[in-house]
Amino acid sequence: MTKKFRVGILGATGVVGQRFIQLLQDHPQFGVTALAASDRSQGKSYAEACTWRLPGEMPDAVKQIVVQAPAPALDCDFVFSSLPGDVAEEAEANFARAGYPVISNSSSHRMAVDVPLLIPEVNHEHLTLIDFQRNKRGYDRGFIVTNPNCSAIVIVMALAPLHDKFSVTSCIVTTMQALSGAGYPGVASLDATDNVVPFIGGEEEKIEAETLKLLGQLNEGVIKDAAIEVSAQCNRVNVSDGHMASIRVKLARQASPDQVREVLASFTSEPQDLKLHSAPARPIIVRDETDRPQPRLDRDAGNGMTVTVGRIAPDNVLDFRFVALGHNTIRGAAGAAILNAELLVARGYLSQNRLR
Ligand code: NAP
Repeated sequence: MTKKFRVGILGATGVVGQRFIQLLQDHPQFGVTALAASDRSQGKSYAEACTWRLPGEMPDAVKQIVVQAPAPALDCDFVFSSLPGDVAEEAEANFARAGYPVISNSSSHRMAVDVPLLIPEVNHEHLTLIDFQRNKRGYDRGFIVTNPNCSAIVIVMALAPLHDKFSVTSCIVTTMQALSGAGYPGVASLDATDNVVPFIGGEEEKIEAETLKLLGQLNEGVIKDAAIEVSAQCNRVNVSDGHMASIRVKLARQASPDQVREVLASFTSEPQDLKLHSAPARPIIVRDETDRPQPRLDRDAGNGMTVTVGRIAPDNVLDFRFVALGHNTIRGAAGAAILNAELLVARGYLSQNRLR
């Protein structure tokens, strides 16, 4: 049996950190060997530091790991990061400089011109930016790869097959985002209950910018943004997990509703061809019931890695409208980063030869 990669998790006690630990339990390629969080948690065993908030028990394998500071050296081959953005910027760069591949969830490095912002089904070819990043920054074995914002990934998963086939020129999107997207304890219960909050700091800007980079073309180490007008409005709604987006698109090429449906429903890509462990057999499921997708019913499709699309219809203002939904802490965070790592292994960017 091949030896597993030894994995560190930065921000291991948080909403996304716990999801990493849950999804990495029994992973065939990755085993958790190091955990890091804030000074509130450092020096404690994970069991002492972390109040486990996911269904099921905290995995035994991590309970006795002592939580450390998010700084090198950690006892692992590479790190997943789910640190808050302000902490991640410096911490992640320190790890990359010290020779650790960093597979990040945080927003700090996503829009850097030499950092891949990756959805393996959408822009796997952007991975080669790593070579330019290493050259430019003088990194030896380290590098930084990021996954998108938790709403951007749901939206772009649905846009990508349409853009490929019919060339999207405009996109207007309104999100309804789950409470877990704000971390723990997140939105105060008195703000969340019986309410919708029409503001999530920085979210609209992230969706608008990241969409263009994700659907952009890489040429000689430079990503040219996709030529799409994107307008986003974001709302926090009283749902535990699952971000939903109402999307309207204008297409450069004519399409029928049946063609739009077929292009979305038949979409598969590199992770499915490579049979990556976390890749869902169907990255997009199209539901034809009039009242789907719904967060409670559809967020766990494909073990939380499938985006569910429904309500596909011609639109009176743009060309088509539909609704997309995905699990924000799985496809939108930890699951996305793990799929990125699996692609990195398949492409030979991760190695197990760190000094122990
Ligand atoms: P969270 O629940 O608040 O967890 C934050 C984690 O970071 C905890 O482990 C915390 O450790 C640690 N931390 C906080 N301040 C720190 C510091 N100064 N130094 C070192 N560690 C520190 O947040 P989250 O929802 O998991 O989000 C984590 C990151 O993922 C954020 O960048 C967020 O934007 C991104 N993200 C979140 C989602 C989502 O759906 N929640 C989706 C995509 C991306 P302690 O427990 O010790 O305080």
